[in-house]
Amino acid sequence: MAHFLANTTVQYVCACGIMNPLTKLFFCRHCLALRCDFCLCHEVDSHFCYNCVENIPSTEAKLKKYKCSSCFDCPSCQHTLSARATNVTVPRKGDEEAPKEDAKQPAVITRKMYYLACLACRWTSRDVGIPDQTVATGSWPESEYANATRFALLMEHFQAVVLRDKQERQDYLRRKSPKQHKYPSLTDRTGLTVSMIRRQMGWSDKTPPKAKPIDVNPSVATEEVDQLPDSIFTEPVNLRELTTIKQKLSQPAGQPSCVRDLFPQHKSLSIKRSLRCRQCEHNVIKPEFNPSSIKYRIQLFASHHVPEIRIVALPEKLEGGVGVKIQLKFSNPTIHDMTVALKELPSTDEETAIIEEMKKVAVSSTPSSLNASLSRQVSLTEEPRFVNKGTTAKVELPEMPFVLPHRDDSAEFDEEMQLPREDPKFVVWRRANRACIELSCEPQDNLAPGAEVIIGFTVQYSYVNTVQVPEKKDPQTHNLTARVYINCGKLSGEQ
Ligand SMILES: [Zn+2]
Ligand SMILES: [Zn+2]
Ligand SMILES: [Zn+2]
Ligand SMILES: [Zn+2]
Repeated sequence: MAHFLANTTVQYVCACGIMNPLTKLFFCRHCLALRCDFCLCHEVDSHFCYNCVENIPSTEAKLKKYKCSSCFDCPSCQHTLSARATNVTVPRKGDEEAPKEDAKQPAVITRKMYYLACLACRWTSRDVGIPDQTVATGSWPESEYANATRFALLMEHFQAVVLRDKQERQDYLRRKSPKQHKYPSLTDRTGLTVSMIRRQMGWSDKTPPKAKPIDVNPSVATEEVDQLPDSIFTEPVNLRELTTIKQKLSQPAGQPSCVRDLFPQHKSLSIKRSLRCRQCEHNVIKPEFNPSSIKYRIQLFASHHVPEIRIVALPEKLEGGVGVKIQLKFSNPTIHDMTVALKELPSTDEETAIIEEMKKVAVSSTPSSLNASLSRQVSLTEEPRFVNKGTTAKVELPEMPFVLPHRDDSAEFDEEMQLPREDPKFVVWRRANRACIELSCEPQDNLAPGAEVIIGFTVQYSYVNTVQVPEKKDPQTHNLTARVYINCGKLSGEQ
């Protein structure tokens, strides 16, 4: 099970021709096709901090540089820091009234003070001399960086440049836009009417001022660099005092080289991401908005819709030109019975035809210009391609289809034995919604020892689509196909 999620033994071909394990694929119920990461549009739904589980609106998140203002990461090990409380005795100030009964006691009082500590590596904010705070959250000092002002200036400058470009483009488009009048009018182009209207309304005649970028001095390279201090050649290096690369890069603004300069870092925000099919623009994955929820409103994982294939038994020895038996388990994840048939992989000509067909669909379903301007993002569909894997073994596929019963979670606990079905010979056993089938395969006899033995076939399965179609009330049954490549292991070496 070590490779449960990164399994590349059984791979499915996405509609675009890229291979992935079933766990990494999605299924679009509107296009009735497999979709991989490249065939989906990734959109940020919301920003949140996973430590304090606070939802942060995207404009606010941008202002805060996508950092949580109340949670900190340990600068030493990147674990989350927690606030610890201690009692500290501090001298009483003159204006603080002492209780009458202990007026004779020394002029000190105990106060609750807070510091940040890492429970993983025991780093504390006291290690680097950050003073304890009287409240647990919100008042921690911000570290200052040498180049902060320079970066702020640069940012301001480029924001103004972007704004000016935008204004100029808008002006240009206004002048270029087609006129509604039959006759050319000077006022349209010169903005004369606007200025007249403004004057009539008693407003100032000026057009809004154009954004002017503030000047920044360009950086200049210099050859004069400070000499290294003498101590660097004489004193032994104490590695305990130097930061690691990881610690340095976790503070990109400061990049301290000494551990005494490490500073608590604000926690980066996480995002909730929704995935949209690039072809039909329907959502394939849509998480719930609440940051503490891990559920989905829409979840179309391929493993919930496509029959899953696992290897049950492989022969001990694989030899070129020698026929062997392999056993595969098929399971039906849907709540409808499924008829499965195994077919040959398409030939090169057929694959070319499939790709041509896909390209046509992509062109015809591209949203019109009106829709394109309304949609948030112009979709680029992934170019269909040939599968970059060849089979190295011949497999004898059964001619008859077989039925996989629907998934029934309670059936797992039933004691009653299932009624035996009339099954074709190649079905070895079946249990609930799973069936194990036996296939004979023969590795090519020109394979070198140690070469991978790969078989491939097309799985044709019946799929009941529960998406409501306005014209037809009953759920529609479709015959869908998925191309599967299975790595059966390496060819045995010669002995
Ligand atoms: Zn794809
Ligand atoms: Zn937080
Ligand atoms: Zn730590
Ligand atoms: Zn779709």
